[in-house]
Amino acid sequence: MDILIKAMAQNGDVRIIAAETTGMVSEAARIHGTSPTATAAFGRMLTAGSIMGSMLKNREDSITIQIDGGGPAKGILVTGRTNGLVKGYIVNPEADLPLNQKGKLDVGGLVGREGNLTVIMDQGLREPYVSSVPLYTGEIAEDLAYYYTTSEQLPSAVSLGVLVDTDGSVKKAGGFMIQMMPGANEHIADIIMYRLEEIPSLTAMLSEGKSIKDIISYIFEDMGLEIHEEKVPALYCDCSRASVEKALISIGTEELRKICDDGKDEELVCHFCNTTYIFTNSDLKKLISELESGK
Ligand SMILES: [Zn+2]
Repeated sequence: MDILIKAMAQNGDVRIIAAETTGMVSEAARIHGTSPTATAAFGRMLTAGSIMGSMLKNREDSITIQIDGGGPAKGILVTGRTNGLVKGYIVNPEADLPLNQKGKLDVGGLVGREGNLTVIMDQGLREPYVSSVPLYTGEIAEDLAYYYTTSEQLPSAVSLGVLVDTDGSVKKAGGFMIQMMPGANEHIADIIMYRLEEIPSLTAMLSEGKSIKDIISYIFEDMGLEIHEEKVPALYCDCSRASVEKALISIGTEELRKICDDGKDEELVCHFCNTTYIFTNSDLKKLISELESGK
């Protein structure tokens, strides 16, 4: 079952957030019809979104991560919330690439390396906080670690893994983020880095049947690991007919009339959850007349 764990180690010097997201990534792959490489790229982003979202303080807050390196994926965007819920889309879900030189799904190639990783934090203030870093590898985990280390001054290790089976289904997915809090002992960071280099890959450990909790306990067993919170990461979407109607209105009466003039019904699809909203021609006419009468 999918789970997200928030923990500390070394008396609060180290923050750990880890998640197993196999179910969530499988569902996203099904809804979005992703190719194997796109499943890996999108799955890593969704996992990151649930981990980063869970670091927010208030229920209403959200964090959006956008990545576009000019590759065939044409960009991926995810939005996470504090309870581990996440939504997202990949612009070109059918894009795929041959395996890379290491025999792995070429996520870096699909995302591309000529572009930026942008993080938008909406904490209910007038302006959201926006920060951007150039892409480093396009493999996502390394790019996020680079973002936290340079933009937030929090030295971080990020691991994200999606194991896609030969039939294209998701075998395992998960990730973890380890951050050194300000003032933490640098020696501890060295020990953690050394351990992370020594252990098998995250997907290898998950495939062996280890739970995400087992994996974290294994890395931090002698460092006073304290688990504070457990959540269930999952996909969500907050779209509704009313929100789609609002978007439709925002294009203006003139544009709406152009759409309406062909006499056809209008089909609008939510990028995040692929729900289709149909506005019949008479719905559109009604909308226009309401706008014109100033209702
Ligand atoms: Zn939706």
